[in-house]
Amino acid sequence: MDSAEGYELLKACTDGLGLSLSKSQWERFYLYLRLLQDWNTRMNLTAITEDAAVITKHFADSLTVAPFLTDGGSTVPEGKTLCDIGTGAGFPGIPLKILFPELRLILVDSLAKRLTFLEEVIRQLGLTGVETVHMRAEDFGRDPRFRDKIDFSTARAVAPMNVLLELCTPPLKSGGLFLAMKGGKDEGPFTAAAGKLSCKLEKTEKFSLKTFESDGTETSAERVIYVFRKKEQTPPAFPRKAGIPSKKPL
Ligand code: SAM
Repeated sequence: MDSAEGYELLKACTDGLGLSLSKSQWERFYLYLRLLQDWNTRMNLTAITEDAAVITKHFADSLTVAPFLTDGGSTVPEGKTLCDIGTGAGFPGIPLKILFPELRLILVDSLAKRLTFLEEVIRQLGLTGVETVHMRAEDFGRDPRFRDKIDFSTARAVAPMNVLLELCTPPLKSGGLFLAMKGGKDEGPFTAAAGKLSCKLEKTEKFSLKTFESDGTETSAERVIYVFRKKEQTPPAFPRKAGIPSKKPL
């Protein structure tokens, strides 16, 4: 797929979300695509590698949370910070940052190798206002530099919801939003976990994402974005020690 075709494919997604994608933003996505494919030959970053599949299943999917960051406008209000927990190869954090250069971004992962890749992406794409943090989410949420400080948190493909809530809500300010990106499957009960962590499910948005498989066939994927709002500071007991949230989910 050449760059012009890739632009049209991603632009169809951003148009559908009511957002604009400039040619210069697309140039960054295209460079990110090629870096991802290149580095993926040397380290395990993603099982999705074909151009149209990366553009739809990684880039477009990541951007589906964009409307929750803008308050209905086309930019993110000034001074807002988002932490992407378990960011892996940078999803959804890097696509959001390309679309919204004004967003301050913290990419958190417990695997150092993936952060090395992301530092190269940040350098080559010329992104500013991005920090990589090599930490377990449980430690990140206890660190006074981050706890109760951040406006938005996101996570995609990291853990079940009752675990994710404990990993992703402690860094948020009171009033901050946790955007959990999920597939269509039942997430099981999580209302009790949300209550213990002083947050509340505010909205659930279900939709079908148009995607492409590696052989070029068009498919669709059921997606759900769960929007939680943090009501007040996280109780001091949370997050529990690294590993406990997944061993003993709330
Ligand atoms: N969010 C990316 C995506 O959607 O493509 C990556 C998903 S990958 C399946 C899960 C990532 O979460 C891995 O990079 C893993 O190292 C990270 N991870 C899992 N548990 C974590 C934890 N407790 N703290 C920090 N990172 C974690």
